[in-house]
Amino acid sequence: MSRFGLNRRGFLGGLVTLAGSVLGKQRLFAAARPSTSKQGPGSGKITGFGESGDVYAELGLTTIINAHLTETVIGGSLMRPEAMAVMERAAKHFVVMMDLEAAVGRRISEMLKLPQGYGVIVTSGAASAIQNGYAGILTGNNATFITQIPDLTGMKSEVIIQRAHRSGWDHQIRTTGAKIIEVETVEDVRRAINERTAGMHFQNLSDPDGQIKRADWLKLAHEANLPAFLDAAADVPPKSRLWEYANMGFDLITFSGGKAIRGPQTTGLLIGRQEMVHNALLNMSPNEDTIGRPNKVGKEEMLGLLKALEVYLAEDQEVVDQAQSKQLETIAAKVSKIPGVTFTRNVSPIKNHFPSLQVHLDPARFSAKPRDIAAQLAARKPSIIVGGEESAIEMTAIDLQPGEENVVADALASALTAHSV
Ligand SMILES: *Cc1c(COP(=O)(O)O)cnc(C)c1O
Repeated sequence: MSRFGLNRRGFLGGLVTLAGSVLGKQRLFAAARPSTSKQGPGSGKITGFGESGDVYAELGLTTIINAHLTETVIGGSLMRPEAMAVMERAAKHFVVMMDLEAAVGRRISEMLKLPQGYGVIVTSGAASAIQNGYAGILTGNNATFITQIPDLTGMKSEVIIQRAHRSGWDHQIRTTGAKIIEVETVEDVRRAINERTAGMHFQNLSDPDGQIKRADWLKLAHEANLPAFLDAAADVPPKSRLWEYANMGFDLITFSGGKAIRGPQTTGLLIGRQEMVHNALLNMSPNEDTIGRPNKVGKEEMLGLLKALEVYLAEDQEVVDQAQSKQLETIAAKVSKIPGVTFTRNVSPIKNHFPSLQVHLDPARFSAKPRDIAAQLAARKPSIIVGGEESAIEMTAIDLQPGEENVVADALASALTAHSV
């Protein structure tokens, strides 16, 4: 499960559901049928795309109520309106993109109160920050190396990672041409380090699973004079993590811009030592003949992330958490009357650290498993996405819009009632 970087407590159910019903092959290749409510050209009414206000319906698509998590496969998070307003202003002018990256990075560095010598760039997601961060580590600012990569002739070529920290995201490390060296123990690390070693990777959410913990990993890296990269993509809130890991001494750190920060979906932050961040930028868009040229970040997106981050940092996390808890309790209250339903409220410690609700079903009282209920909710219109695994239906309200908790509560109550025995 963690091999794919997904939340081990629940997303598979949702993903399977999506794969089966929403993202199924047939759907991908079948022509979407346009909504019949539209009137054709010449009717004098709606003629252009988007004019009905329901852009997804115009394309024949069903929108989703996201009662689960910020997941790229269903569009990530919903952007903050303040960010959208700034993006519209950003779209009205040309600007030198490298200067913009530098200026936005400086502004974000100040906002995050980073340690001396640290900087920031905006990348096209945390995945891009991983790829281009490592590209920068490998090439430095050597122009020949930058055009040569992923052919690593003349460069270092290995990245060390704990087995428990492997995930789909290390594809982004391999893209640079680097070879992943798997370790488990401190002994293994000492044995693995050699003149080809370029860096040591730590997937923050996997901290409890690996034998070597965060601080010890960092120490091992620095003892060997190697950079340590921390992938903390989905690990805010709390917002203090945005500066905590830099202050600990991690050399490069990434966070997604399109998860809880609610900036553009296509953004991420690469935070780290100024020189390394700069070398990462040399390896990516807008620079041509680079490995990261496809990882373009638009001027609108850079400024959208900057604004979203400003709003996120000013937010009172306790107020936000309370509002989310209240939505989840509305759902719990509605289904608590159904015999055989019990609840837990386990907040996952690192990734997706916000209020959550697990609805457990007594197998003697229900003819369906949590994942069947999840599939049923996903199949309705609008689709409701919840996590569904063997033991519980899993929900959070991080992406639930005001009022949607009532829709979820009603739909869940009727699905459960229908399967009561
Ligand atoms: C989401 C995520 C990523 C990728 O982030 P994007 O911003 O979508 O590119 C990388 N690593 C982990 C652990 C994640 O949760």
